[in-house]
Amino acid sequence: MASKKETATDNAVEQKLKNLYQLQTKLSEIDKIKTLRGELPLEVQDLEDEIEGLTHRLHKYEEEIERLKADIEKKHTDIDEAQAMMNRYQQQLDDVRNNREYDNLTKEIEFQGLEIELLKKKIGEAERLINAKTNDLERGRGVLEERRKDLDLKKSELDEIVSETKAEEEKLREKSKVLEAAIEPRLLTAFKRIRKSSRNGLGIVYVQRDACGGCFNKIPPQRQLDIRMRKKVIVCEYCGRIMIDPELAGVKIEKPVEEKPKRRTTRRKKTEEED
Ligand SMILES: [Zn+2]
Repeated sequence: MASKKETATDNAVEQKLKNLYQLQTKLSEIDKIKTLRGELPLEVQDLEDEIEGLTHRLHKYEEEIERLKADIEKKHTDIDEAQAMMNRYQQQLDDVRNNREYDNLTKEIEFQGLEIELLKKKIGEAERLINAKTNDLERGRGVLEERRKDLDLKKSELDEIVSETKAEEEKLREKSKVLEAAIEPRLLTAFKRIRKSSRNGLGIVYVQRDACGGCFNKIPPQRQLDIRMRKKVIVCEYCGRIMIDPELAGVKIEKPVEEKPKRRTTRRKKTEEED
């Protein structure tokens, strides 16, 4: 390994992979910022929609209550009119000249009486409806106020995150641009394509426990060796991600050495010599 000749091409591949991995790091950080912010705009939008819908519904309730009140007022006037008519017929009863007139008048009086009963019943129904609607309205107003408070909170949270991360994101984008410029266009395009098709946004990964760090499929020893040689760009045969030697990526991988827990029983302590 020490006798490995470092040719210009070796160096070039190494540099390519290094650049690509650095770019991946920056892009992953941008992805993280987006995820952090990602749910909040949606939550804010949901709340705004809910508030709009609720406001509309409450406005409808208000309109209905107003309509019912006007209706009740109208029915009261109708009752007054019916009552006035009844009184008039009652007076006319004193001057009836024959049975037919008497029958007609009593029928009219009876009819107006029924009419008044019906109007009163309808007023009662409308009043009950107003009560129910008023309850709904009050409950809705309570919910609306809560949602508005939620919205204010989420909005300020979002504003804070955006303002906090904006500068960081811009810096990361600047750095990414510089790195991208140093990467061969064909490789960059391939990398971007892999990144886009992968759920975690990783286009280049290192070997982790003998497996691909992207899809976690085992990598054959020969391929691992090739990756360590850094002589050509090697992709994972399962997921197509570009592979990089962890050392080149600057990642420290602890060897899975099994550390046996120290057994410090009192008995051993006694028998063991201190040194
Ligand atoms: Zn893979």
